[in-house]
Amino acid sequence: MSTVHYVCKYTPIEVLAGFGATCENLNSMPEGFNVSEQIAGTNICGFGKATLDAVFAGEVHELVLVSCCDTMRAVYDLLVASGKLDFIYLLDLVHCGNACAADWMADQIRNLAHSYADYSGATFDVDAFKRSFTERESIDEPYVSILGARMGTELYEAVRNAIPMPVRNDTCVENRSVSATNMPQTDDVDELLAWYAGELLQQLPCMRMVDTSGRHVMLEDPNLAGIIYHTVRFCDFYGFEYSQIKDKATVPLVKIESDYTTQSTAQVLTRVEAFAEGLTMAPWKPSSHINESGKYFAGVDSGSTSTDVVIIDEDGTICATTILPTGATAQSSAQTALDEALASADLSRDDLKATVLTGYGRGSVGLDGDAITEITCHARGAHHIDPSVRCIIDIGGQDSKVIKLDEEGNVVNFAMNDKCAAGTGRFFDMMAQVLQIDLDEISRRGLHWNEDITISNTCTVFAESEVVSLVAQNKALDDIVHGIDKAVANKTMGLVGRVGGEAPFMMTGGVAQNEGLVAAVSQRLGAHVAVHEHAQLCGALGAALFARDEAKSADSR
Ligand code: ADP
Repeated sequence: MSTVHYVCKYTPIEVLAGFGATCENLNSMPEGFNVSEQIAGTNICGFGKATLDAVFAGEVHELVLVSCCDTMRAVYDLLVASGKLDFIYLLDLVHCGNACAADWMADQIRNLAHSYADYSGATFDVDAFKRSFTERESIDEPYVSILGARMGTELYEAVRNAIPMPVRNDTCVENRSVSATNMPQTDDVDELLAWYAGELLQQLPCMRMVDTSGRHVMLEDPNLAGIIYHTVRFCDFYGFEYSQIKDKATVPLVKIESDYTTQSTAQVLTRVEAFAEGLTMAPWKPSSHINESGKYFAGVDSGSTSTDVVIIDEDGTICATTILPTGATAQSSAQTALDEALASADLSRDDLKATVLTGYGRGSVGLDGDAITEITCHARGAHHIDPSVRCIIDIGGQDSKVIKLDEEGNVVNFAMNDKCAAGTGRFFDMMAQVLQIDLDEISRRGLHWNEDITISNTCTVFAESEVVSLVAQNKALDDIVHGIDKAVANKTMGLVGRVGGEAPFMMTGGVAQNEGLVAAVSQRLGAHVAVHEHAQLCGALGAALFARDEAKSADSR
């Protein structure tokens, strides 16, 4: 039996099943794009590239595409030209569900059926067609829905594992709902096809349809506990829907974007895990890492740039701290940082009752302890330092985050820039290099400026050339650094706006030590921005406090 791959929920897979074919949703994500980067234009989305790569890797022999968008049409043309497939067909979808569209769809299905019969030599079996319908399972308990553009299988599995409740995939092809409930009692193929074409088009509409109003039912399910909204880079249709629902949704919502490679998964997971932590009362799972004889608690923040450790006692008093460069491996720096912190307080690892790991490397530090995202840990640390704080601006080495808190210190909303160095510590590190000054100097120079210079780019590459040209114009160093601070403050304001951040503000992360930036952010916000002496350690402090909660909760069980 042959396998026909398909990419769209409007594909008549029941008809293909009538010809004895097994239909499979083509949805896996490659590690990177090999062939497609060479043959496809830049405006093809990651899914289009993944499709091309799957065919060129010999994973697909029969493929039915649907004219959903320009990418799919381009993919079809490239694949026809490649001659790589035994069977390829492009179904022309009319993007509405009226009677006229159903007639057109029925014709399209007949044409596909003729082509497939010619190619395969198989005949259409009405009973096989009728038997092939499947019903979508409903979920009768609280669940998280993944909405938006199609999500690759690998990412979906990772997301499902990160969410501590049932997850329903409502993206694109996955919310296919062609039901046999109203099938006419006949074996007449024309009559069946006329009905079937209507059923296909009457599904819950995808965002490519003209009338998408039917999609609101997904938001109205009383069991819906949260939404993960997924977009694929360059797939505009779902970007529009996200902007429509983000203010209307009454349940927690997080947006993630993927480029359809497995490489982007780790980055995306921090958002998903932080979202999951916000859905549950305690962000840790019942721990298997409690050492009953210990009396201290460690938080280890394995960041992209620095590895920070905080050790606290049962009262929450800080006993020891360390900040080390993360260096070549997250594991060795985390172990060294922990041992250095312990040694400075005359403690050993046996004195630790529980440890919580956070930061970008939290899953790979090789220490016993549960992992909690840096978003939740920064919130916990900041709330402990100052319970009045409602908005945290955390700028680290490679990313920046803005986290909105409620009065209990819970994360209400967060936004991250984790895609590039723009507006992060790395940006300052690079600018300091260009200006041939050290971090201390770049942190203070922007405080005393005369000329109000504007640097319009926070993209490191473009900003570097702007700064080089300012140097060539003999602009004063203080003024250039002030321009850099303003550019990063503007970028940060975008994140504050996205989460609806409100005063009192606190800045955490290593970049909080940059006084010029703190002044520029404060000026843009029109509000005071507090910086605590432990700003860079805030994530590790939050992790240590969670370790203490975890041990307390284990004691009370
Ligand atoms: P991560 O958690 O991603 O490892 P951190 O929160 O430790 O990052 O922040 C690292 C960044 O902090 C560095 O890239 C650097 O730009 C900035 N930084 C560190 N120390 C200072 C300092 N003394 N003054 C200004 N910036 C600093």
